[in-house]
Formats: sequence, structure tokens, C-alpha cells
Amino acid sequence: MSVALDITPRHRERCETPVLRERGQREVFCGLTGVIWLHRKIQDAFFLIVGSRTCAHLMQSAAGVMIFAEPRFATAIIEEKDLAGVADANEELDKTVARLLDRRPDIKLLFLVGSCPSEVIKLDLSRAAERLSRRFSPSVRVLNYSGSGIETTFTQGEDACLAALVPDLPPALDDTPSLLVVGALADVVEDQFARLFADMGLGDVGFLPARRANDMPAAGPATRFILAQPFLSMTARALEERGARRVPAPYPLGAEGTTLWLEAAATAMGVPAADIGRATAPARARAELSVRRRGASLAGKRLFFFPDSQLEIPLARFLSRELGADLVEVGTPFLHRSHLAEEMALLPDGAALSEGQDVDRQLDRCLAARPDIVVCGLGLANPLEAAGMTTKWSIELMFTPIQGYDQAGDLAELFARPLDRKTRLKV
Ligand code: SF4
Repeated sequence: MSVALDITPRHRERCETPVLRERGQREVFCGLTGVIWLHRKIQDAFFLIVGSRTCAHLMQSAAGVMIFAEPRFATAIIEEKDLAGVADANEELDKTVARLLDRRPDIKLLFLVGSCPSEVIKLDLSRAAERLSRRFSPSVRVLNYSGSGIETTFTQGEDACLAALVPDLPPALDDTPSLLVVGALADVVEDQFARLFADMGLGDVGFLPARRANDMPAAGPATRFILAQPFLSMTARALEERGARRVPAPYPLGAEGTTLWLEAAATAMGVPAADIGRATAPARARAELSVRRRGASLAGKRLFFFPDSQLEIPLARFLSRELGADLVEVGTPFLHRSHLAEEMALLPDGAALSEGQDVDRQLDRCLAARPDIVVCGLGLANPLEAAGMTTKWSIELMFTPIQGYDQAGDLAELFARPLDRKTRLKV
């Protein structure tokens, strides 16, 4: 059975949808936060944040309990003498890296992660990465990216990290078309997708990032890549510069989103519709049932999204189409119209979209609308709860496996749970 949803005509209409553009005060975490899920994914990588004590505190509080015997990230603190130019920050950094790599021979890929303080003192981490790569090659590769926080949002850290990996990917050895899935997915989700693709006859699908530094996938003009996350614009551009071509698709959230995503990828690789349908039908049916069962309380509920994770539009599509929720406002920090065209085409007519933030004005709109659930960052959740709202932390959606069929019911429940809890508290 193939999926019969034709989204092309509505795509054209939706691209014209008016979007409220806000350019005021923002309430978001910085890109350093991405280290929290990236260090779990690339198992022999280490993320060395070159930052201040503030950066270290953010990482410690966001990471919670350290679950590894040996940590996979740390902060090299820029001291006052570095800021004042008394010490040579490059020399200090080289010493820190040498000590780290001497103690940790398991590290194969080292990311130097820039921060606001490293940018303020104009510490050139790309030159540092080149210098250190030469010194520690071939056993360790050193790359750099920026996780600094001004005018960014927290998922951009992943984009910057993956974009830094792209120039280093091995070249494709021949012109055989290959499929590459781009975006850090929980291992369990990646394994499910790999199995589904294999059932369709696509046995050799690459995933970026790979779990190990030396297993990063190849990329070249014969590569078709599909984004698993909607916030990877720099990574997509870097892949396109290597000749790879993006497969446009909605994102794999919910039963419908997962089906459309798998179908787009497999069709681009020439898999017949019948084979796609045969491979996906059982998991899809299970996912639809699970979503209906676990998200039933969301039907008719009014949702308001503050801009935070950049997942807002795919989530809004899932919640409105598969669970019957009403969308009061869908805010997103950035709106990449081309990467989100297929998603926007699936939103209900008249959905109010906003891009960027003017937090006070948006709070006024939210409080006036009195939605049933507010999806927002941690900084806004407590005051909104105090004002009687039910909130869902958007960052939780980055730490929880939510993509794919087997996670669709969990995703529905993540939104239903705060509502159910409130109902129980009222009884
Ligand atoms: Fe560090 Fe800047 Fe992030 Fe603050 S916003 S934690 S200073 S990188």
C-alpha cells in the first residue's frame, strides 16, 4: 500500500502564507546545548567548549547527571588573564588539548566548540583546529564550530557541528546513487529506519553523524540526502556544495510524517511504491493506533508554540492532523521556507505562523488566547505555569526519541501527559 497524499498543489499555496515576523527580545538557549545529545551520538568524539564559567554552568545544568565513566565533553575556561590578553589563549588551548588527548587515547574526533567569550576575544578556533589536527593526525581529527548564543537558538549547535563534519566526509567512490539521512537521531530510531529501508531493498543507507568518527558516510554528486531534522540549513548547504542533492519531504514525526518521509527518500532512490507500502504498512498501522490511543485527550485542544527548538512547524502539523488539536499560534525562531515547504503545505488553512520573537508581545498574545497547552522554552515555562497555563518544554523533545513509527505514540503522549496531569489534579 502506498501513501496517496499529494502535497504539491497545497505546497505552492502555503509558501504564500503570511508570517508574522518578530525582531524583538528573545528567550532561547544557545547552541552549546546541542553538545548534550551530540556527545551521546558520536561515541568516540569529545566536545571541548572554549568558554567561560557561565558556559560551563549551562552545560552542567543542562546535562544533568553524567552517565559515562569518562565524560565526552568539557569546558576549557577562558580566564581573566586570557580575556585581558595577558596570556596567549592559543598556547593555553594547545596545552589543554595535549593534556586531554594524552589522558584519553579513546578520543578520535575532537570538536573545539566556540562560545560568546571565545568570539569576544577573537580566538580563531578554525586555525587552532587546523594546527592541532596537523599535530595529532592521524590518530585524532580536530574540527571546530560555534555554539555561541547571541541571536541563535539551541538546535543550531547541531547544524554547525554537522556542517563542520561535511568537508571531512570521504568522497563517494563511484557514481552509484546513495541515500544519506542527515540529523542526529537516537540509535534506536536510526536502527528502525535502517531496517525499514533494508526491507525496501535499500541496504546501504548512510547516517550523518555516524556513531564513530571513522565511520562517517561518503558524500558526492550521486548522493541524495534527506533531512531528519528541520534545522540543518548550514549542513544542507555544505552537502549541496559537495554536489549532493536534497530530497524534499516533511519530517518523520508521527505516523503520517514518517510515512511521507520514508516514501520521499525511497522514491528518490527508485524504490517502487508497492515495495515502500509493503515495508511500511505494519509499522504504520501500529503507529496510527498508538497515536490515537495515547493522544486522544488532545482532540480539540488549543496549542500555542513559542519559538524555541525549530521543531515547531512539524510538531504543529502532527498535532493538528493526527490528533485534531487546534493551532492558536505556531512560532518558530527561523523559518526556512524551502526546507519546511512540505510541512507548511500540510498545516491547516489559517494557522497563525510567526518567525523570530518579541517575547513580551508574544506573551500578551498567549495570555489573551488562554490556550490549553503552551509549548515553550524552560525560561518561560515557570512564569506561564504560575499564570495558570499548562506547558510543555520544547527542549525535552530533543532529548527524547520522537522520530519514526515506534515513537509516534510516545510523541503524542508527551503532549497529552501535562493535560492529563492537570485534569487529575483538578479531580
Ligand atoms: Fe556561553 Fe554565550 Fe551560551 Fe552564555 S550564551 S552559555 S556565554 S556561549
